[in-house]
Amino acid sequence: MSGTSTGTPAQEGAARRRVAPEQLPLPDFRTVFDEAPAPMLLLTTDFVVVHANRARLEATATTLEGTVGLDLFEAFPSNPDDPAADGARKMRSSLEQVRDARRPHTMAIQKHDIRLPDGRYEERYWSPRNVPILDERGEVVLLLHRSDDITAYIRRQGDDPGAGAGATRWRARAEEIEADLLSRMQELEDLNEQLVAARDALSRMALHDPLTGLLVAPAMMEQLARSLARLERHPGAVAVLFLDLDNLKQVNDRYGHAAGDELLRCAAGRLATVVRPADTVARVGGDEFVVVLDDLDAEHGTAYAECVAERLLLTLDEPCEVTPRGTASPSASIGVAVARSGAPDEVRSPEHAVGGTPRVRTAADLLLSQADTAMYRAKRSGRGRSLTYDAAVDAAVSTERALELELATAVAEHRLLLHYQPIVEVEGRALYGVEALLRWQHPDGTLRPAGQFIDAAERSGLLPTIGRWAVGEACRQLRAWDDDLGAAGPGHVFVNLSPGELARPGLLEHVRACLREHGLEPQRLVLEVTESGVVDEQKGRRTLQGLQELGCHLAIDDFGTGHSSLSRVVQLPVDHLKIDRSLTRDLTGNPQSRAVTEAVLALARTLQQTVVAEGVEQPEDLDELRRLGCRLAQGYHLGRPQAPEQVTAALSAGPRPPS
Ligand code: C2E
Ligand code: CA
Ligand code: CA
Repeated sequence: MSGTSTGTPAQEGAARRRVAPEQLPLPDFRTVFDEAPAPMLLLTTDFVVVHANRARLEATATTLEGTVGLDLFEAFPSNPDDPAADGARKMRSSLEQVRDARRPHTMAIQKHDIRLPDGRYEERYWSPRNVPILDERGEVVLLLHRSDDITAYIRRQGDDPGAGAGATRWRARAEEIEADLLSRMQELEDLNEQLVAARDALSRMALHDPLTGLLVAPAMMEQLARSLARLERHPGAVAVLFLDLDNLKQVNDRYGHAAGDELLRCAAGRLATVVRPADTVARVGGDEFVVVLDDLDAEHGTAYAECVAERLLLTLDEPCEVTPRGTASPSASIGVAVARSGAPDEVRSPEHAVGGTPRVRTAADLLLSQADTAMYRAKRSGRGRSLTYDAAVDAAVSTERALELELATAVAEHRLLLHYQPIVEVEGRALYGVEALLRWQHPDGTLRPAGQFIDAAERSGLLPTIGRWAVGEACRQLRAWDDDLGAAGPGHVFVNLSPGELARPGLLEHVRACLREHGLEPQRLVLEVTESGVVDEQKGRRTLQGLQELGCHLAIDDFGTGHSSLSRVVQLPVDHLKIDRSLTRDLTGNPQSRAVTEAVLALARTLQQTVVAEGVEQPEDLDELRRLGCRLAQGYHLGRPQAPEQVTAALSAGPRPPS
């Protein structure tokens, strides 16, 4: 097949007709331009005439010498007798547009009279088009103006064979169209401006948190990744400070969300005053902030970061005005994590495996999660502190998380149970009631007290479920004692409620249902809540009100340890105050404990509330309480928490003789 043509007959015909370009007689382009039938001008980009071809010179009755070098206004002279025609101005606007947009532009029909050599003007109509001439880099080097003389055509169209009316109509129409086009172009430009502004605002919004103006998490992560990448080339360190405000929730609950927003803005402002201008500050969650300290010294980076964290704590501790009459300090817990040059940039952590493939955590992810872990520990060890991440922090957090997991299994496997501790009359030691206390029958054979896992239950969100179960179980048990022991059984059961449980919807209905199910009078169920749980939560207070209306009794637990104001506590609808063990422990030895206990007793008397002294371990303490007029007491001296069967057995054996 080689050597023969494979094309179609038409293609072969075309190939035969085609002549090689070098065989063609091509004159130079200047000659072509000069002899072209269309009238054309070449102008510089600032509109000075460089050249005109013959057709143009003939059409305008001028010479090359008289045209080259003229500016626009001289090249398109206005007829002083026709003030409406200002061709030069329109021409300039078209040429500017062509030059700036680098695109050709066809103008509306123009009436532009030419000046004859004798100085008179002659009416002429033109159809102009302007074209940019670009160099190889795409820059405009010259402007080409081509304008065909259409005077004869216009006159033919006119009603009046002379000229006049038809031409005038054409011109009017042409101007109308041009004006319309111009106004549409203006509209388009306005729209475009709005579009650009909206896009700018959007990208600012995407990068910045609208409330505080700080960077948002993705932007911060990019910044952090860049800083860490720099570490590979230049020795040094990068620190991440993870901040979590300690009391945004309380401020929201107490003063409303506008006050919470103010607290956030105030905190953001304070952060900016402490860090260097080049450092990155971001808001990464509701009440979480991240500060990235870049370009630190490898050796002293950690010390510097810790120093900044301390300064941040101090600054944030100062109160902010969150409402015209209320202040709150945006105090925070801070976790610090530092990366030094030479550290691996990727860590594969199989525990984060997704769908069987280990997730690759970037250095930025890892550093941030370390700072977060340290913050979590800092918060656990008390608010308003900072902690730097290290292996020990990691181990402690792992242990806590393991406990949370184990506990979830315990709940699922029904390994939680209730023990009951007696609450007795100080005078005569008759049994008033029992407090239900959680116990965990651990697979290792031990029975763990609530104090060892209640925080983990709270953290992992299990407490509301556990708490509901506890209310139901305590009611069931009280009914069982009623049935078994009659009047010898406990008169009341005290059940602990965490602040979280109190704030959860549906508690009231649950309590009502439990009481009904077991046929108990509401006042036999005493619900214990801590001061902080009641004072801080609006929802919690509403639930308390509801519980009281239902007829349940309420007790403030651990009274004297909370940070809330006494004046708020006394406004609550409670029946009992349980004085914390820390106050009653040393009643005989410590005059201060005694003074506080006396004061609480006096307060309770005024408010007609009953006081329960907790943690009574010594007989002398009980004697002292009796002298002070305290009505109820609880503690190892009076009875340890026991399994319900043990309580039944002890009560069946009859009342204990007073000691
Ligand atoms: P709490 O309500 O103040 O309960 C008293 C705690 O002190 C109990 O610890 C009890 O065993 C212990 N205790 C009683 N008498 C004495 C004494 O004389 N000396 C000493 N040193 N300790 C005494 P437990 O059972 O470990 O409970 C710890 C905390 O866990 C409770 O403190 C309560 O806040 C919480 N808790 C227990 N059960 C529940 C529950 O069902 N729901 C909720 N939300 N919290 C619970
Ligand atoms: Ca309690
Ligand atoms: Ca207590």
